[in-house]
Amino acid sequence: LMQLSIPLNFIGFVYREIRQGLTDIEQMFDLLDVSAEVTDKPDAKPLEVDQGTVRFHDVRFSYDPERPILKGIDFEIPAGNTVAVVGPSGAGKSTISRLLFRFYDAQSGEITIDGQNVKDVTQKSLRAAIGMVPQDTVLFNDTIAYNIRYGRPDATDEEVRKAAEMAQIGAFIESLPEGYDTMVGERGLKLSGGEKQRVAIARTILKAPPILLLDEATSALDTHTEQEIQAALDTVSRGRTTLVIAHRLSTVINADEIIVLKGGEIAERGRHLALLDAGGLYAEMWNRQREATEAEEALRKARETD
Ligand code: ADP
Ligand code: MG
Repeated sequence: LMQLSIPLNFIGFVYREIRQGLTDIEQMFDLLDVSAEVTDKPDAKPLEVDQGTVRFHDVRFSYDPERPILKGIDFEIPAGNTVAVVGPSGAGKSTISRLLFRFYDAQSGEITIDGQNVKDVTQKSLRAAIGMVPQDTVLFNDTIAYNIRYGRPDATDEEVRKAAEMAQIGAFIESLPEGYDTMVGERGLKLSGGEKQRVAIARTILKAPPILLLDEATSALDTHTEQEIQAALDTVSRGRTTLVIAHRLSTVINADEIIVLKGGEIAERGRHLALLDAGGLYAEMWNRQREATEAEEALRKARETD
C-alpha cells in the first residue's frame, strides 16, 4: 500500500502541475489574443531598440478581406512621447495595438520601431521590448507575487513589493491575511477589474520595457479607482514611448498627440485643447463624458446625504 500511495501522490502532483501549466498557457493565449498566422522570417534578427521611436506608415488592415478595419493609418510616437488613440467602439483602436505587437500582419504599409519593420525582427525580441497592459487582465491561478513577478521572473521580493507600491496596489495586498502569498485567479481570491489592472501595471513596471501599450479598461471604474490607476499609469509611462488606447478622455489630456479614430480612419488629431477648440468629434465625446461624470458625481453625493 505504501508503495502504491507514493506514485499516486506523485501522479497527483504532476497532474496539478500540468493543469496549472495548461491554464497558464490558455490564459496567455487569451491574454495575448495570439494568432498562429504570424511567423518569424528565416533571417529574422532581434529588434535593437535605441530610442524607441514607433512609426505607422500608411497601415491598412482587415481581419476579413471583405471588411477593411484600418484604412491607411499614419502616425509617429517619438521616443519617450505618449500618443493616445480614442474613438468609438469598433473603430479599430485595439487593432492598432495588436499590429504593433504583431499578433497580425498589416496587409500593406509599414510599422517600424527605430526604423526596423516589426515583420523583420523576431517576435520574441519584439514582445520583450513592449509592455502591454491589456483591457482585461487575466490572472494566473497562483499567488499575487507570482502574477507580478511574471514581468521579470528573477525579480527579488523587494522589487516585487516596490512595483506593487508604484502601481498603487501595495497597500491592498498588505491588507490581505496572506499578503503576497494570496492565491488569485479563477480558483483564488477574485480581484476587481481595477485591482487586476493594477496587478498588470505592477508586472509591467517590473518588466520595464522601452515601449508601452496600454489598453484601458472600459468597465465603469469609480472616479477614485480611476485616479489611482491613472497615477500608476503615469508612473509607468514616464520616459517611455507609450501608445495608450483611452476610453476615458480624462487620461489623454497630457498626451503629446491624440488621434481620433473613426471607421478605421484618422478623423482628427492634435493636442487636447486644440481638439476641444476645433469643436469636432473629440469635443463632442469630451462633453458627453463630462456629463456622464457629473451625473455619476451627483448620484454619489445624493447617496452620501441619505
Ligand atoms: P476598438 O478597440 O476600437 O473597439 P477593435 O480594433 O477591437 O475596435 O475592432 C475593430 C473592428 O474589427 C470591430 O468591428 C471588430 O468587430 C473587428 N474585429 C476585431 N477583432 C476581430 C477578429 N479577430 N476577427 C474579425 N473581426 C475582428
Ligand atoms: Mg478595444
